Amino acid sequence: MKRDRKVKIVATLGPASSDYETIRALHEAGADVFRLNMSHGSHEDVQARYDIIRKVESDLNSPIGILVDLQGPKLRVGTFANGAFDLQAGAKFRMDLDPAPGDESRVCLPHPEIFAALEPGARLLVNDGKVRLKVLDCGNDYADCEVVAGGMISDRKGVNVPDVVLPLAALSKKDRADLAFAMTLEFDWLALSFVQRKEDIEEARELTGGKVAIMTKVEKPAAVTAFAEILDASDGIMVARGDLGVEMPLQNVPTIQKRLVRMCRKAGKPVVVATQMLESMIESPMPTRAEVSDVAAAIYEGTDAIMLSAESAAGSYPIEAVGVMNDVAIEVEGDPNYAGILAASRSVDRASVADAIVSAAREIAEATDIKAICCYTQSGTTALLTSRERPGVPIVALSPLMGTARRLTLSWGTTTFYSPEIMTRFKQAVTGAIRAACELGYAEETDFIVVTAGVPFNQTGTTNILRVAPCAEHLISADEHEE
Ligand code: PGA
Ligand code: MN
Repeated sequence: MKRDRKVKIVATLGPASSDYETIRALHEAGADVFRLNMSHGSHEDVQARYDIIRKVESDLNSPIGILVDLQGPKLRVGTFANGAFDLQAGAKFRMDLDPAPGDESRVCLPHPEIFAALEPGARLLVNDGKVRLKVLDCGNDYADCEVVAGGMISDRKGVNVPDVVLPLAALSKKDRADLAFAMTLEFDWLALSFVQRKEDIEEARELTGGKVAIMTKVEKPAAVTAFAEILDASDGIMVARGDLGVEMPLQNVPTIQKRLVRMCRKAGKPVVVATQMLESMIESPMPTRAEVSDVAAAIYEGTDAIMLSAESAAGSYPIEAVGVMNDVAIEVEGDPNYAGILAASRSVDRASVADAIVSAAREIAEATDIKAICCYTQSGTTALLTSRERPGVPIVALSPLMGTARRLTLSWGTTTFYSPEIMTRFKQAVTGAIRAACELGYAEETDFIVVTAGVPFNQTGTTNILRVAPCAEHLISADEHEE
């Protein structure tokens, strides 16, 4: 679908956004990718949302990306005798393997591997970091802690352990079951939670047989430390500020976000900035000033996508939240400073013919009045390279593979166009590109576009042609050309 902005919007679906009308309205308001979060809801719920997304896609003839997000090895305490307890700072508290209901002195943490890895001095952060414990002494089945920051602790609250690399499998039993179910759907991106090392990504890639793109959620200090090799092993990255802000000091999150976005842009891999972007809109039709500034800052950094979590999944104003992101994006991207900021933060190693061609396409777009850069792409690589250039005009990515078209919905500035026609001649490709650009509303008959393609056609990694084409040319039938 034609958008008037370059940055993409990912909207999480949930109870507040599960019917056809809402999902369609979310897409029309600007959601390019939908996230199906496996942490909440049943497989039936996910299946129903999935079916609706694909129906909207076909009704609107507009490829839609689907991001399936696995919960990952999230740690949770057991239950309490009275539901909840208020822990006081300075008190002692024990975590152990005893499944008996907890009280103000102890609770079960049903993860034996954790006790083996804990060391005195390590922190246990409960309930989104609101309750902070420090390990004083620990053994194979217990950890005696001091309460550093007190607060409410209740049934099944999450526990973050930022100080140790945990000997946890990247995919829990639940994740494997969720993934096996998800593999029966045609989804495009798989997000992995609490990744600690590149092997976690490799394991998931093997389980999916390479059928989907893999997005690593950076939410553990270990993933920040090992980010270069994690990025190398991933197809995309999510700056998962929710858990990252629990595991790291909050003031570190903005600098990490900036660094990660830059590194992803340099690598030409899509990056999503996530969590609490418009948090107040869960309950309010208006965001706060700070939230709008946060969304704007991520766009100025050149992130590929910004994400809504509870705002669209469980809030009262899901469509309005997408609308705010859309409006902020249009405003930021219309700022005369924006192009300069993007150019100053561009960093690309140009190693291949394809790199040089997409760079030339951007330069032509900057120097002349062309309306779009259209590229033919099999695997999506050429579109990713073009998007990495962050050109001032729309990128139209034409692909004969629906999977490629859908996956690219996450990429900055890229409008995807499913083009099942088998290309045999470059002229035919030019005609197809012009039609797509005009049909999407990016160009008119008197305009010019840039077309890039690889000849021979239908091979991956061959981008070797660039042409500036007048749109009037699509009136001439492809047969009249003998090039
Ligand atoms: P979550 O991940 O919403 O699945 O927790 C995002 C985050 O932690 O920021
Ligand atoms: Mn998270």
